[in-house]
Amino acid sequence: KAGGKNMARIFLPQMEESVLMRSRLERMLRDAFVHSRDMFVFYQPIVDLTSGQVVSREALMRWYDASRGWIPPKDFIPVAEEAGLVYDLDSFVLHAACRDAAAWSDGASVAVNVSASSVGQGRLPGVVAMALAASGLPAERLSVEVTETALMSGGNEALRDLQALRDMGVGISLDDFGTGFSSLAHLRAFPFDRIKIDGSFVQDGDRRSDCAAIVRALAQLGVTLRVATVAEGVETVQQRQRVQEDGCTYAQGYLFGRPEPALRDLSRLNEINGQ
Ligand code: C2E
Ligand code: CA
Ligand code: CA
Ligand code: CA
Repeated sequence: KAGGKNMARIFLPQMEESVLMRSRLERMLRDAFVHSRDMFVFYQPIVDLTSGQVVSREALMRWYDASRGWIPPKDFIPVAEEAGLVYDLDSFVLHAACRDAAAWSDGASVAVNVSASSVGQGRLPGVVAMALAASGLPAERLSVEVTETALMSGGNEALRDLQALRDMGVGISLDDFGTGFSSLAHLRAFPFDRIKIDGSFVQDGDRRSDCAAIVRALAQLGVTLRVATVAEGVETVQQRQRVQEDGCTYAQGYLFGRPEPALRDLSRLNEINGQ
């Protein structure tokens, strides 16, 4: 307590700086959405562990800013949420993903992450319907990924939004399963099509038998509940073998493919890489 004043003197300038940085980032983000410039959607395959076929691809957002370079989603998505830009963000990703998936010759479906703060606002079903209509993609080829955080903060309204999507024929995945709180309660509250087992459990399973046991238990839970499971973050052949033996339905990770840009973005990306 004695050092309180000194602390404040040291702390304040840093805080002001970070507030400034935030508002700059926010302005840049708003700009990027308005002109939809240098916002990209990359796609990462999700494979069926039995057949080895790509059944789906997850849409993952990428943002390039000329002065800052590539900005990862974990840095800009929270800013977008605080700045009230989630509607623009969801709408951008959904439109791009549905349009791209409609052109895939293998008929794979596409999985789109929706922001926690937009589930339960009542606007999501409308945005999804618009993206489907604009692209002509059948609803059955789209799934949305929601995290437990979305369900916790969104309450009954969140469940109502998800049910509306389900009624349209859109699949619903529970993302990062096992990392949040009261995971099992969420499984009871809503009939998910897929459970995505967080990659940290898969990877730590190499060295830690407790993590391996968690993956196995979650995979078995999926079998019992008749819900497909996706093992995330599979990087090695050994991990693939293990999650398959554990009973996971699908897998995703660098072993099968990294997130890759859509063909139509290649020329712009070559420009960026050449800069
Ligand atoms: P997530 O939904 O859990 O996505 C999986 C993340 O794991 C992606 O990171 C992906 O690139 C990465 N990944 C995939 N395979 C492997 C692997 O084998 N090893 C390792 N170490 N990592 C792997 P990314 O693209 O940086 O995205 C991070 C998070 O940002 C996502 O986590 C998701 O929560 C969020 N995000 C990404 N795109 C969007 C979006 O369009 N909308 C929203 N709302 N959130 C998004
Ligand atoms: Ca996801
Ligand atoms: Ca995940
Ligand atoms: Ca994650």
